[in-house]
Amino acid sequence: MAFVDEISIKAAAGKGGDGVVRWLHLKGKDKAGPAGGNGGRGGDVILEGVRDLGALAAFRYMKSIRAQNGQSGDNNNKYGADGAPAIMKVPVGTVATDTKTGQVYEILVEGEQQVVYKGGMGGLGNAHFKGAANQNPVEATPGRQGQSGQLEITLKIIADVGFVGYPNAGKSSLLNALTRARSKVGAYPFTTLDPHLGDFYGFLLADIPGLIEGASSGRGLGSKFLRHIERTRYIAHLISAEQEDVVASYKSIRDELEAFGQELADKPELLVLTKVDVAAPEEVAAKKQQLEAASGREVLVVSILDDELLKAFSDRLAQLLEARSES
Ligand code: GDP
Ligand code: MG
Repeated sequence: MAFVDEISIKAAAGKGGDGVVRWLHLKGKDKAGPAGGNGGRGGDVILEGVRDLGALAAFRYMKSIRAQNGQSGDNNNKYGADGAPAIMKVPVGTVATDTKTGQVYEILVEGEQQVVYKGGMGGLGNAHFKGAANQNPVEATPGRQGQSGQLEITLKIIADVGFVGYPNAGKSSLLNALTRARSKVGAYPFTTLDPHLGDFYGFLLADIPGLIEGASSGRGLGSKFLRHIERTRYIAHLISAEQEDVVASYKSIRDELEAFGQELADKPELLVLTKVDVAAPEEVAAKKQQLEAASGREVLVVSILDDELLKAFSDRLAQLLEARSES
């Protein structure tokens, strides 16, 4: 099962049940008044947020989905049952767009439900039409059609931290080291181009691979992944200590973030100088200082081969995330 973050599906709410013409039968009397019940309402099409990033996979091979129709009314003024809704469980962070109307639905919270297409109203039975002037109405109305349409559904992952940086900056390795994400990655066999995710003390870390120059203008591989960090709270910008000119590396990824859209560039950003085991301590110190001067931000250093540095980094990251979730 591959990771599915985009689907297109036809969806239809249920039709309302018909109202019916029925008569009350009493002993010795033929028609003792109207007794046809109303039809039930058609089921709605509903989106419901769940904490399962893989949830869209359930719709992968589905061309369409339908809610139940309402049932017709019955004898003795009995109402028809309402149709059951079609509840589509989608991951939190899902955006659904009706292709015709352009109406957009966003599911941001677990358990949140949004009605996308309303079921049709049930029709009215002849009992409804009884009045002083009309003791024996033969009138009943049919149920109404439910709403329907084509939905384009896209997942925008809401990660707490999105890892950005050039290929080989060490994003995947650091994510794995921090979260032992391998097992999670195993549960969702992402291709190398899909974002990798890991749980870090209850925070979601996302490795956003493929961010390369020109990505935001659609030329590179990155634009598909950039949308996953649009909603990310924190950007961790990784720069390898192997880079000759760390400031130039930093700036070109910053340019990408800015080109993608203002909000991305305005997110709180954490700079991380990675793979510091490959360089001499003086060189690491110099590069860290250059990055601090260029960004005006805190710069953390890390190496996945150095347990002490890794632990210090992990502690600081946890501290920053906890401070932010309280504020
Ligand atoms: P990504 O492209 O940013 O995801 O980078 P990867 O995590 O795939 O790492 C690229 C290469 O750098 C791999 O060969 C890793 O084994 C290596 N690497 C990652 N982190 C470190 C580190 O801290 N020290 C050293 N020496 N190598 C690292
Ligand atoms: Mg990678």
